[in-house]
Amino acid sequence: MTDTNRRTFLAGAALTAGAAVTLASNTRASAQAEADTAAAPTAPGAAAYPTPPYPTEMQPWPGLASKMNPRPDHGETSYKGSGRLAGKKALITGGDSGIGRAAAIAYAREGADVAINYLPAEEPDAKEVVALIEAEGRKAVAIPGDLRTEAFCRSLVAQAAGQLGGLDILVNNAALQQTRPSIADISSDLFDDTMKTNVYAPFWLTKAALERMGAGAVIVNTSSEQAGNPSPEIMHYAMTRAAVLNFTKGLAKELAPRGIRVNAVAPGPFWTPLQVSGGATQEKLRMFGGDSPMGRAGQPAEIAGLYVAAADPLLSYSTGQIFGSTGGNGQPA
Ligand code: NAD
Ligand code: MG
Repeated sequence: MTDTNRRTFLAGAALTAGAAVTLASNTRASAQAEADTAAAPTAPGAAAYPTPPYPTEMQPWPGLASKMNPRPDHGETSYKGSGRLAGKKALITGGDSGIGRAAAIAYAREGADVAINYLPAEEPDAKEVVALIEAEGRKAVAIPGDLRTEAFCRSLVAQAAGQLGGLDILVNNAALQQTRPSIADISSDLFDDTMKTNVYAPFWLTKAALERMGAGAVIVNTSSEQAGNPSPEIMHYAMTRAAVLNFTKGLAKELAPRGIRVNAVAPGPFWTPLQVSGGATQEKLRMFGGDSPMGRAGQPAEIAGLYVAAADPLLSYSTGQIFGSTGGNGQPA
């Protein structure tokens, strides 16, 4: 299937019990087109991903990947590892869905044991990820909880390191993004929640992780193209992605002498629960990513490789780097 404008998503067979990965078709797809594509393999970069206009089915925050239409491709049926993270122990926040889930699948297939953190309401998504990690013969640790307090962040790192038997990689990926028409509509509570989740939590988690990390460890942060080109309706969120980018560069300098690397991944528009649960307006969601040179939103499977690269021991001279995946919109900074 090579027609980039085809508004049909692929259907993938579930790899494991409880890990349903069916990719729902766009509402415009004909029954015949669905039948044609049902047997096709999911392949990142295969030019078979859905293009705008997308259905605008919103969910209450924090949203579930399992309820999205079309269902995101996190690489469930496509990501193939080659031992790049063999024996590593990783903690990924927001590992239940979206970009974090894609990273979790990739890490497990690259040979890592993986702990994921998520909110209790996301348990159904988390269960699918645990099944996918375990299907690789890797250890999966599921630790639900709210990152907005330092006490929980410290406890999360302690639990993850305890259950994994150490910690080599911390992926700071969880974030809150809620669209508002104007600065006048951004309440202090929303501003505070956004800062706590997106800036304080990575700071607290990193501090706690560094108490346990030695040479060879890696911190991988998630920034955004928003860090350099903020959309006004999410300016409070964009500020946090800029802060994380800056944090990445500054901390990398401090930790280089200890042999600990710090990198960030900067996504452009990606099809994830964050966008359908308040991160974008219905109008923006409908044409999501349509103004990027690729003309569509990215799928989480398409960025997983950058999370692997950011942590890969082979890239031992890469620290303070920003790995971008913006569909042609360049680097954030
Ligand atoms: P997502 O909704 O799949 O993941 C975000 C996760 O954050 C949720 O799954 C949830 O588990 C977690 N989270 C939110 N608040 C939390 C809290 N208080 N406590 C614990 N966990 C909490 O969406 P995503 O798009 O995959 O987001 C992952 C990262 O990608 C975020 O850092 C986001 O800023 C970044 N990003 C996304 C896009 C995009 O277009 N989707 C673009 C640029 C950057
Ligand atoms: Mg989620």
